Amino acid sequence: MNDLEFKHTVLDPLSASFCAAKWYNATIWLGSGQTTSCHHPPAHLVDRDAVTANPRLLHNTPQKKEDRRKMINGERPPGCEYCWKIEDMGRDAISDRVYKSRIYPIEALHEARNTPYTKDVNLRTLEIAFDRTCQFACSYCNPAFSSTWVRDIKRNGPYTQLVSDGRNHFTHAHDSAQLYEYGESNPYIDAFFKWWESDLHRTLQELRITGGEPLMSGHTWKLIDWFKTNSGKSSTRLAINSNLGTQVDIDRLLDSTKGMAIDIYTSNEAVGLQAEYIRDGLVWDDWANNVERLLDSGQFRGIHVMCTINALCLSSLDQLLECIMNWKLEYGRDAVSFTLNILRFPSFQSPLVLPDNLRTEYKQRLVDWLSRWCDSEFIHEHEVNHTQRLIDYLDVVKTPHSDAFDRPKLHNDFRQFYTQYDQRRSKDFHTAFPQLKEWYDNLQIQQQ
Ligand code: SF4
Repeated sequence: MNDLEFKHTVLDPLSASFCAAKWYNATIWLGSGQTTSCHHPPAHLVDRDAVTANPRLLHNTPQKKEDRRKMINGERPPGCEYCWKIEDMGRDAISDRVYKSRIYPIEALHEARNTPYTKDVNLRTLEIAFDRTCQFACSYCNPAFSSTWVRDIKRNGPYTQLVSDGRNHFTHAHDSAQLYEYGESNPYIDAFFKWWESDLHRTLQELRITGGEPLMSGHTWKLIDWFKTNSGKSSTRLAINSNLGTQVDIDRLLDSTKGMAIDIYTSNEAVGLQAEYIRDGLVWDDWANNVERLLDSGQFRGIHVMCTINALCLSSLDQLLECIMNWKLEYGRDAVSFTLNILRFPSFQSPLVLPDNLRTEYKQRLVDWLSRWCDSEFIHEHEVNHTQRLIDYLDVVKTPHSDAFDRPKLHNDFRQFYTQYDQRRSKDFHTAFPQLKEWYDNLQIQQQ
């Protein structure tokens, strides 16, 4: 059954707005006590006192229950606007609610639809972050997800003169993202472990730990230890997002996870100096060596490279993809894979800020790269599709600059942000991106 058939014959009969993610999937940030169903709806606060009595409320919040009631009745929860916008393009438009529902058995969808919306349900897929401790401060991240970003803001003050950043990502330390000091007891983390040990370990199919940098959190190691000492008790697939940078204890990871089938997700989208510029804290050689050490061990289910496609990565993205394909040739098709995820926020770092001639040149490099690899037995279908999707996105005909009105603002912010980033991080945009130098130097700063 293809996606459209699934939508028409399975999903829509349950209701016109049904999405299984509202029942079975969650991201929970335990440091800030917030949760959401998928990456689209805004996160909301979980009641701290309520989870102490009933840890299932980490996921089954009053807001999600109200959203479930709406979905059962075919009404649209406003937080899911991302999907409604896509579906309003036409009856056959496939939104994420199709993809997020398809991953579960059809019986589970019926069970969710027929469960009273007031009842707590156990998760099947979960992403959790214990805290925001991270030794990196990537340009597209912010203090809500990185303690090194917090230090930048506390030491140097807010980034100034940005006019397109309505969410104020770079102007304050996001103290609400870390409600408890290190070493202080966090009732959300206590509730998670209570829920995990009672029955979550039985129902959860996949648990993905994110951060910050999860390998810098003692709670991640506690969970890995749980799997070791309770071998066979849980069939949950464990996955860890790690920047695989310096200060991450690769020896301990290799040692602690022997005999466990874990997936490792790591972010990178460029090579060499350009990767180090975009992902402040990364040392290219260390990252590449660490990937190879994990591959050499042969003990991981897969190493997945997540590429966040921004304006600065495009001049060396094809080299990174080549590097990944060479790893595939050496270690096997499934040992390492990649996804290309197009950055939307902060919008001034989007590839769409680039001038047409550069977009066209970068598009052509990807076209050339894909034509060399698309028939290889070593490339996955989703990797071909992601590359083609990015090629279409960079095509100035298929994705024109829709926000002509905002472009001066985005250009102002690009120049303002990277000028301050260079000063704060001892970096040099011109050295890292010589091809962008002329365009960058001519970007207009707006008068405030
Ligand atoms: S309907 Fe869309 S936005 Fe809402 S939870 Fe499902 S996938 Fe996410």
